[in-house]
Formats: sequence, C-alpha cells, structure tokens
Amino acid sequence: MIETQNELVTGTVLRASGAWYEVDVPAEQLAQVSLSQGEVPDKDVPEGVPAGHAILLCTLRGKLKLGKREAAQPVSVGDQVRVRPLSSFGPDARGRRLREGYIEEVLPRRSSLGRSRYGKTNQITVANLDQAVIVMSLREPELNTHRLDRFLVLAEASDLQAVICFNKCDLLRRREFKTEVEPLMKLYGGLGYIPLAVSAETDTGIKEVRATLAGHVSAMLGSSGVGKSSLVNAIQPGLHLWVGDVMDMGKGRHTTTEVSLHPLDSGGYIADTPGIKTVTLLEQQEINLPQCFPEIARLAPECRFNNCTHIHEPGCAVRAAAESGAIAQARYDSYLKMSNDEVLRPTNRNR
Ligand code: GDP
Ligand code: ZN
Repeated sequence: MIETQNELVTGTVLRASGAWYEVDVPAEQLAQVSLSQGEVPDKDVPEGVPAGHAILLCTLRGKLKLGKREAAQPVSVGDQVRVRPLSSFGPDARGRRLREGYIEEVLPRRSSLGRSRYGKTNQITVANLDQAVIVMSLREPELNTHRLDRFLVLAEASDLQAVICFNKCDLLRRREFKTEVEPLMKLYGGLGYIPLAVSAETDTGIKEVRATLAGHVSAMLGSSGVGKSSLVNAIQPGLHLWVGDVMDMGKGRHTTTEVSLHPLDSGGYIADTPGIKTVTLLEQQEINLPQCFPEIARLAPECRFNNCTHIHEPGCAVRAAAESGAIAQARYDSYLKMSNDEVLRPTNRNR
C-alpha cells in the first residue's frame, strides 16, 4: 500500500496494549487525511467516544523521539503524542476497525502517577493525571471524614487537585444538610479543595462535576458503595468504567491491571484505574504527612522546634491551633491517627 505523508496531529493516549496504542485525536484533524481507495470510516468506531473525537490505532515509529525516557515504557496512557495518521484501518483489541497511525513523538509530561521509585516495572502509570475526584457518601454508608482525610493526603502526596463529591445528598433532610454538610463544605473549601454536594440519583450537582472535570485528567477514588459508578453514569450515560474498590491504606495487595482513559462529552478525561490502589499511590513517594495537611503545613514554621511532629512537643503552633479551634479538631485528629499509620510512619520524621 502506498503510504501518503499525512500531516502530524496531536493526540492523547487512551489505552496501551502490547505494541499498540489507542490515541484520541480531534476528528476534524482527520477529516483532511486521505484514505486509500475503497476504505470508508467505520461508523461504529467511536463507540462510547464523544462527538468530535476520533481514535487512531497506533504503533511507535522506530525513530521515535524519546528524549531521556527509558525504552522500557516509552509511552504511557495519558501521554500527549504527535501522530502521523495512515490511510489504512486496523482492528483493535476489541475488534473495532480503527484508523491507523504512527506515534512519532512523545510530548513532555506534566506529571506521572504510579511510577515506582523502586524501579518495579509492573506499576500502572497515568501520565498527566492532575485531579482526584474523591467520592464520599453522606448516608448508606454514613460519611466518614477520617477516610476522606486519608484520601486527601493521597491526593496531596500525589500532587493532584482534589475534588470532593459528597454524594447521596438526596438522602438528607434540608436541616441535616445545613448542619452537617454545609460546615464541611466550608471547612474543606477553605483548605483549597473543591467540595461539591451531589446526588447521582437526582442529578443534583452533576453539572458542577462535569464542569470540574473539563480540561483535566481525573481519577475517581472512593470506597465501595459510595456511588462512583452511579456518578460516572450520571456524568456521562453509557460510559461504563471498571471502577475498582479502593482499599484502605496499609492493607494493600498489588494488582496490575490495565488502565485506560475515557474522553468526556464535557471535555477532559476520566481514568479507569482498577489497579491504582491507595497503596500503589503511596509507595511512589515519601509521604511528608504534615505537608499533606494544608492547615498544618501553614502553621508549622511557627512551631518552637523545626523538627516538630506536632504531636507532643512544647511550643507547637499546630497543637495550640487545634486547642483554640483555629484549625478543625477532627482534621487534627485525622493527622494524629495517620501519624500512627504503618504506611506513613517511616517518613514522618521530616516535615
Ligand atoms: P460504587 O461501588 O462506588 O461504584 O457505588 P455504586 O455506584 O455501585 O452505588 C452503590 C449504591 O448506592 C447503589 O445501590 C446505588 O444505587 C446507590 N447510590 C449511588 N448514588 C446514589 C445517590 O446519589 N443517592 C442514593 N439514594 N443512592 C445512590
Ligand atoms: Zn508543631
């Protein structure tokens, strides 16, 4: 087949499977690409893919510009790549006919999640992930703010913007919402997080969730039964993610499963991350616990000792603030509890 030298297009890697990569590119950029004779685009190709997106089935060009990247995992899900579309079609892992292309260049990563500093190669990587959507249910199961704080530490340690979805708000009376949820929204909003009161059942707050996802690569975190799948379905009906249960820190096992990104109608991508367990997230870096509590990090310079753990030292500004109510007692309690955590303890020496 004669290969035409089509123009390069920029896309996002949605999925990787062996030597193959599915790359999401703007459909309009493909419109100008020539097709070989007799080839017609498969109408069914973008199943579950929003209008305006097209997917290219790509392999790596031999002379790929890798820069300093190690050859073992040159391209990750989430990477921005420059692709040369071909005029041919190929079947992907699920038998769909997709336009083919060559990945010619990998653009610099903004961030990378899941790369183990221990050099394990079986870890999941999502390049450019920048937001964690932490789903907590207000009822059924009852809200557990300590668990929320643990997820927030995770987000902080991984340098992700945290969005908190207080889900199932339809199960609360107005009064309960006012006395229980509003103060929490104020507390967590004041710490720099994005709190949203939502209901996957009644669609309350779903528009706001969509708006927060736009322009970001987000992953959902949350315990089983809090409504992650229901929320994803409310955000984009028909998008069925495999959302695994995120386990408690410290009890983890390691699971290696594929990760994929899904483009959203409202813009942005959501990661389907069955294998990103909290433990995996924690392992990749030294957790500096006080730094993961914004209100503690802010006060720490005022402590008498600069290696203050904020647990028992005299002249601790953090303890004083917890006692005076300047910082929330529940948050400080979370900090104390996590200071005792097996997973976190080893790195709690420094601040
Ligand atoms: P996941 O395990 O986090 O994915 O949770 P699911 O999406 O499977 O939801 C668990 C249960 O909570 C299901 O029975 C849902 O119908 C229910 N649920 C999810 N969101 C809401 C909500 O906003 N309100 C109410 N009342 N129930 C919900
Ligand atoms: Zn202190």
